[in-house]
Amino acid sequence: MAAIARGAATGFRFPGGGLGVERWAFHGFYHMTNDTGQSIVIAGGGVFGFTAALELRARSWEVTLLEQGSVPHPDAASTDISKVVRLDYGADAIYTGMAEQSLPGWLAWNAAWGRDFFHQDGFLVMTRDEEMPPGSFEAESHRFLTGRGHPVVRTRRTDLAARHPAWNAALYGDGYLNPAGGWAESGAVVGQLARLAGEAGVKIVENCPVAAVLDDPAVRTADGRLWRADRVLLATGGWTPFLLPELTGCLRTTAQPVIHLKPDRPGDYRPPHFPVWGADIGRTGWYGFPANAEGIVKVANHGPGRPVLDPMQPRGVTEAELDRFRAFLGNTFPDLATAPIVATRECWYCDSHDGHFWIDHHPDRSGVVVAAGDSGHAFKFAPVLGRLIADIVEKRENPWSERFRWRESGAGSAEDARATG
Ligand SMILES: Cc1cc2nc3c(=O)[nH]c(=O)nc-3n(C[C@H](O)[C@H](O)[C@H](O)COP(=O)(O)OP(=O)(O)OC[C@H]3O[C@@H](n4cnc5c(N)ncnc54)[C@H](O)[C@@H]3O)c2cc1C
Repeated sequence: MAAIARGAATGFRFPGGGLGVERWAFHGFYHMTNDTGQSIVIAGGGVFGFTAALELRARSWEVTLLEQGSVPHPDAASTDISKVVRLDYGADAIYTGMAEQSLPGWLAWNAAWGRDFFHQDGFLVMTRDEEMPPGSFEAESHRFLTGRGHPVVRTRRTDLAARHPAWNAALYGDGYLNPAGGWAESGAVVGQLARLAGEAGVKIVENCPVAAVLDDPAVRTADGRLWRADRVLLATGGWTPFLLPELTGCLRTTAQPVIHLKPDRPGDYRPPHFPVWGADIGRTGWYGFPANAEGIVKVANHGPGRPVLDPMQPRGVTEAELDRFRAFLGNTFPDLATAPIVATRECWYCDSHDGHFWIDHHPDRSGVVVAAGDSGHAFKFAPVLGRLIADIVEKRENPWSERFRWRESGAGSAEDARATG
């Protein structure tokens, strides 16, 4: 059944040809066409929504994507100047495997898209201990990656001082550099995916917020229109628990602060001496990026965050949070701490109780699929997300889907790189 909207639905195509939609002989966009001509309405134009839209379109679904604002939406989690791309997940074989499969995808996109959206500048993780503590995120990642043949480079205090002079080596005793890691220009990537989706025939409707999810399956948008399709996919990130209140026991939205600094000498904060970094991240949550082309250094915290109770509440980084940033920078990157903060951003995680994504058919709403629960760490998997979500929509075998199925809420936990307290 074609996706139909009562009342003059508009198909929207992005201007400009760009690269056209090439079907990758790669995990990113498998063309397992099913020619069933089925239709799907996707709510949400972030990385979950657009990777799913492209993959389902490549499988001959008729795809309509509704975005509440402009694409990329300024408040979307996916919309920022950078996101970490890392293989480092402690001893977690599933996320490490997903990251290993995503990496060639990022490189393939760089090649196909004519410039680097992914910058393989390396990922340096340091701990404050003389030796990486056994069982820690750093020690487990080092052990697990070495065991899988990844050439990570042990970095002791003296190495840190010699190779990464911006760090206060007096504070950090041991860690390693993973040269395979880096960062992606996340907002720009979403823009590119949206452009390719438009070229592939995905109908993209901006400024069209979904107000209700109906058991047809269908959605009603705020302008009163009803959008029916064979499937409805909710890829609405941190807004999901507000759209589906029955999920509030399993998914909750948390606000995370981000700052952008502009140092006088951006060259001091560029690779190889200043790669993407984690500063005792498993215990403190602190991480950040090299200076980008505009000389901006982003710093953020992968920690508990603040609960978001109302999707309309004003956003902003608090003074208390800024004080915490300044104190951390003063200790760890004394020079960088003197740089002006040129922007701050409150960004939302859609946190699941166990830190794993939530991608599955709704057990009580036939034809409705939820793809959310990013828990602050899904962007790096963009090259494989589309196939994962499409396989789940089509109820096909997928090596990773079991972890992300609909499940009972249980004891709280988080992935190893996340500071929990
Ligand atoms: C501060 C911060 C730092 C992060 N750093 C990293 C990192 O370094 N590495 C990494 O891998 N991941 C990182 N993440 C996580 C990553 O950003 C997310 O996993 C990913 O972007 C989630 O994508 P999404 O599509 O689910 O959500 P979003 O990108 O938020 O997209 C959801 C979209 O749905 C739209 N929408 C919402 N409600 C409606 C509605 N009712 N109708 C229509 N549209 C609607 C929104 O406008 C938005 O465009 C970080 C996240 C944050 C917040």
